[in-house]
Amino acid sequence: MKTVKDYIRTIPDFPHEGIMFRDVTTLFADPRGFRMAIDQLLHPYAGQPIDRVVGLEARGFILGGAIAHQLSLGFVPIRKKGKLPGKTIEQDYQLEYGEAIMEVHDDALQPGERVLLVDDLLATGGTAEAGIKLIERIGASVMGCAFIIDLPELGGRKKLEDMGMNVHILCE
Ligand code: IMP
Repeated sequence: MKTVKDYIRTIPDFPHEGIMFRDVTTLFADPRGFRMAIDQLLHPYAGQPIDRVVGLEARGFILGGAIAHQLSLGFVPIRKKGKLPGKTIEQDYQLEYGEAIMEVHDDALQPGERVLLVDDLLATGGTAEAGIKLIERIGASVMGCAFIIDLPELGGRKKLEDMGMNVHILCE
């Protein structure tokens, strides 16, 4: 039987020469693969006291929307700067070359809410760390961080675990 990993393809030299891009669109496009990924991502959190699912732009929206629906919860997007129409709070973070900014609507979460944070892939952990900081600055707490893919040599999992996070990842 195929595993989640079997549905993911690798595209060499995207977006730059020398980068092996892990492409989850083939996983999302397959009905069995997509359902398997959603079921496995939410499995540790079913029955847990979670109030909201938060997804990181952009593939975290696809996963987070499906997980929120399955858990009968609302969904909140964290987006790159300049995309959200309402009043936001910002968090800068390091990219491979330079810096970027993530934003969330300042009224999208309430203090005390318990959040499940979702994205497709964990590399250095910089993007997820920015998301966690935004959630925590509102006064909400992160109950879990769920990803499909970990690139362990880039240290993201350790970074999040050192922050005290519960990290759930389907494959390396
Ligand atoms: P990090 O901030 O270094 O952990 O990078 C993670 C972010 O970059 C996530 O939002 C991913 O969607 C994206 N990303 C980095 N490399 C890949 C890849 O090979 N495939 C898909 N997304 C990637």
